[in-house]
Amino acid sequence: MSVDRKLYEGKAKILYATDDPEVLVAHFKDDATAFNAAKRGRIVRKGEINCTISTHLFAQLESSGIPTHWIDTPKVDRMRVKAVKIIPLEVVVRNIAAGSLCRQTGISLGTPIEPPLVEFFYKNDELGDPLLTVDRLRLLNVATPEQIDRLRELALQVNRYLSTFFASCQITLVDFKLEFGTTSDAQIVLADEISPDTCRLWDRLETDPERRVMDKDRFRQDLGEVEAAYERVLERVLTRVEPR
Ligand code: UDP
Repeated sequence: MSVDRKLYEGKAKILYATDDPEVLVAHFKDDATAFNAAKRGRIVRKGEINCTISTHLFAQLESSGIPTHWIDTPKVDRMRVKAVKIIPLEVVVRNIAAGSLCRQTGISLGTPIEPPLVEFFYKNDELGDPLLTVDRLRLLNVATPEQIDRLRELALQVNRYLSTFFASCQITLVDFKLEFGTTSDAQIVLADEISPDTCRLWDRLETDPERRVMDKDRFRQDLGEVEAAYERVLERVLTRVEPR
């Protein structure tokens, strides 16, 4: 595989062009940021762990009929992906109240959300990734109303699949963020990554509200044992029984 030009360096990944214009390589970094990069650090082996978890999840989602940008994973911290045009929206699905939902609505941490909530945030660091209303989504015109419906449908499908999968790992999928892109033939596919950086994951084997946290909240909130938590998610994902 010949990897050449660096196209883009983000907070958690570097994207490289390849000799095939339809294919990019995503290199997952150990760098960690939070609060729109106001907090910076490093989580040892994070790149490798997030790439491996994402690979595992993308491969399963693909076989369950959800299109993704994933092609293959030639190295533990590098995946080959389809070149897509990223839709500048962060699509968040929530099963349990946490994070900004609690801060902005006063709903208590841990409250079950039924049916799951789908929220759209504008992917724009300068603006601090604001939550969008339906009317603002229409105003910004970053996706057509039909595409928004499709994003919601895909996000809920991903949620159903991943909630069952993580439950079989003794992990509760609290909430997560997805990004989507459009391929050269106008298909919407799941892009970016699915990992402890982008999901809230609570250990079902722990009841203590701090000890149960297995995701980037350990880094955001200085809870310690960040690496150990990421390693534990990886181990559970790789050793659990296939959901039916
Ligand atoms: N999230 C993410 N990237 C972001 C913002 C949020 O991956 O830029 C994920 C976050 O890890 C959580 C979910 O999206 O799993 C919902 O995040 P929330 O809106 O509660 O924001 P936060 O509390 O992290 O500010």
